[in-house]
Amino acid sequence: MNLHPHRPLRRDNDVVIVGGGIAGCAAAYYLARRGLKVTLLEKGRLAWEQSSRNWGFVRQQRRGPVETPVMVLGNRLWRELSAELAADIEWVQGGGLSLAKTAAELPELEAALAECLRHGIETRLLSRKEVQALIPGMEGEFVGGLYTPSDGKAHPLKSTLALAEAAGRHGAELHPYTPVEGFLTRGGAVVGVSTPRGEVQGGTVICAAGVFSRKLARMAGLSLPQRGVRASVAATVPLAPLTPVCLFGKDVCFRQMNSGHVYLARTNVGSADFDVTLEAFHNIGLFLPVFLKNRDLLRINIGKPLWDDILRALPGSRARRHPFDHAIDLEPPPNRETLEACRRAFMAHFPRLGAVALEECWAGIIDSTPDLLPVVGPVQGRPGFFFMTGFSGHGFAMGPPMGYLVAEWLAEGKPSVELSGMRFERFRAGALGAAKRVG
Ligand SMILES: Cc1cc2nc3c(=O)[nH]c(=O)nc-3n(C[C@H](O)[C@H](O)[C@H](O)COP(=O)(O)OP(=O)(O)OC[C@H]3O[C@@H](n4cnc5c(N)ncnc54)[C@H](O)[C@@H]3O)c2cc1C
Repeated sequence: MNLHPHRPLRRDNDVVIVGGGIAGCAAAYYLARRGLKVTLLEKGRLAWEQSSRNWGFVRQQRRGPVETPVMVLGNRLWRELSAELAADIEWVQGGGLSLAKTAAELPELEAALAECLRHGIETRLLSRKEVQALIPGMEGEFVGGLYTPSDGKAHPLKSTLALAEAAGRHGAELHPYTPVEGFLTRGGAVVGVSTPRGEVQGGTVICAAGVFSRKLARMAGLSLPQRGVRASVAATVPLAPLTPVCLFGKDVCFRQMNSGHVYLARTNVGSADFDVTLEAFHNIGLFLPVFLKNRDLLRINIGKPLWDDILRALPGSRARRHPFDHAIDLEPPPNRETLEACRRAFMAHFPRLGAVALEECWAGIIDSTPDLLPVVGPVQGRPGFFFMTGFSGHGFAMGPPMGYLVAEWLAEGKPSVELSGMRFERFRAGALGAAKRVG
């Protein structure tokens, strides 16, 4: 791979990208493919944070009007990606199913069905019997589901690294272990970044720093409303082929990998952890509606993360000089209680499997915005700065199409899909829509 951990940084670039997750790597690939001079800076290992820790679902259904057009494009790009990148990213177009446990959940799925049909995405509501025909042997409590046959899945780490490698082949330079610690400005415009290894200039600086985007943007004088929520995932021991479908349920979500391992997670009461830090006290007004709407999903923890954050904020602390040093190659702790509940729910759906053991557990911090929509685009009053962040749990699937659209935007002046619903200014203008339920 065209990684440059020790080579000098290229000083002069068309675009500098901060963050080596799927957003940054996809942008680097599509920009470099267009012939732009790109340098990507990553504070730790490439793809170490959300982009390798997610479930690997690539779905179009239940996206809402702002994201659905991006995912229609995304579905097309994902289907071509393995061949285009000449890499096995384990893409399987096995369909996506959102399960309704009770009839009370059906109206929400009916609304999502209408949204899919409006965008020409073949989707249908299935009865319990039809779900059982689709996924043989599936039992337990459910009345039906929403099924999109063209949805798919891919391997998170392999996909992100394949985009990074392809970006390198097209001339992009990628530097792991190179944290961006500040911005270079000229007359109010951002013209580059500073790192412990030196300065890097670029006509545009893309902030694709995942859950650290708020901290980074503040260094450019921008207040990005963003929170991190810790989500836990487990992989079972390898099982015989079960289903190619990605299943999204409240008690359990699952996806089987090519290796036979089944990833398990859940989205119901108390399934996600919110570790309070000093950031929790910013933009409270903007977050209150979405917090109240999803209050039951969150476990609120006040403890070490808050204490560590207070120590880092003290005058003279090392973190004041090197604000990302403590955040290199983080390993957030998974919530074992949640994962044990997932395991039990999975076994209840497949009683014929008997006891299923977990092989590995991990967690990732999901970066979320007040309206659970990404923040993508330039910023009024801060030329040279460009957001590509805040994917709110949807960014693995959206990485390639967003990278494609951002490359169009920077190379041609505008993207071919309407992205105005993702602009940063919506937070300033008080133009947020109604609070949404996570999903
Ligand atoms: C458990 C879990 C399950 C999920 N499931 C799905 C799913 O099934 N489908 C889906 O579409 N999405 C899913 N998501 C969401 C998806 O993973 C994210 O939206 C997506 O990976 C975000 O990509 P990113 O590149 O924006 O951020 P990240 O992958 O978090 O990358 C950001 C990068 O920026 C780097 N960085 C930060 N600050 C600096 C700095 N100062 N200098 C240099 N580098 C910096 C970080 O080190 C990191 O590598 C899930 C997320 C989690 C955690």
